[in-house]
Amino acid sequence: AKSAGGNRFELADPEADARVITRHGLTTGLPAALDRGEFFIEYQPLVHLGDGTVSGAEALVRWLHPQHGVLGPDRFIPLAEHTGLIVPLGRWVLEQSVRQARLWRERYGESTAAGPMRINVNLSPCQLTHPGLVQDTVDILERTGVAPDALCLEVTESALIGADDDLLKPLRRLAEMGVDIALDDFGTGYSNLANLRRLPVSVLKLDRSFTQSMQQYPADPVDLKIVEGIVALAHSLDLTVTVEGVETGAQAEQLRVLGCDTAQGWYYARPGPPDRLHELALVDATG
Ligand code: C2E
Ligand code: CA
Ligand code: CA
Ligand code: CA
Repeated sequence: AKSAGGNRFELADPEADARVITRHGLTTGLPAALDRGEFFIEYQPLVHLGDGTVSGAEALVRWLHPQHGVLGPDRFIPLAEHTGLIVPLGRWVLEQSVRQARLWRERYGESTAAGPMRINVNLSPCQLTHPGLVQDTVDILERTGVAPDALCLEVTESALIGADDDLLKPLRRLAEMGVDIALDDFGTGYSNLANLRRLPVSVLKLDRSFTQSMQQYPADPVDLKIVEGIVALAHSLDLTVTVEGVETGAQAEQLRVLGCDTAQGWYYARPGPPDRLHELALVDATG
């Protein structure tokens, strides 16, 4: 029932991506880019659908390449995974983002209408299998003095399909500490819904393709039923539902009525520098 096409770039073959990047000569610069300070992070606000207040932000990494300008993660994450740079890069993103969250929390308080003010950070499957993940995360939270409940780690549904206990163990330990785990791009991986109970996740991030199907008003009745069913199932398992890729008010409204909890998308704000979130939080604080 999901609309075909449009969102399919996410299924791109990482090997093919790596070849494209190599052809454009990005490979040589990548290992040194971290030392040279060429990466930076943009933040996109997460909005509580109930009352429109900002409840946190997702960290999205970019590379300011000396020749090619700003490159999005789809251009270099596959290569970083391929070369192993993703582990130190991911650790850097985590530390920067948690530091930023601490600044926001100092400035605007630690809780919002939707619970603790949160920072969401993407985890690559390569980081999941790296033995240092739990300790690195603990160290970063301790160094920055940020409570674990301020952190949400996003793992794609496809990374966890058929995951065995070894893969889930670090996520379970993080979840026990109070870190939230979100299942990203949910609905694209064809996972068994009953499988959800086995995973230490507390947030479902509905893939953008569902949001796209809410483009018309009213949306396709079958799509409405599917989202309604996912939301009901998620809530019955005590999971919250975040929707991504919200570009219009009509989408936001339909998804709110369907019971989704949190939204993210260009309708609210594009990813941007941390000060943009300051502005949004200030707007909310002053009504
Ligand atoms: P994602 O985690 O699914 O992130 C959402 C993507 O949708 C972001 O693309 C965001 O800029 C884009 N987006 C947000 N709102 C809208 C909207 O309303 N409409 C549309 N069409 N798009 C919207 P971006 O920043 O290019 O990131 C792409 C992917 O790269 C992310 O997908 C994530 O899988 C990965 N990524 C980003 N940062 C990191 C990171 O630090 N580590 C790892 N491992 N992966 C990352
Ligand atoms: Ca994400
Ligand atoms: Ca996503
Ligand atoms: Ca995605």
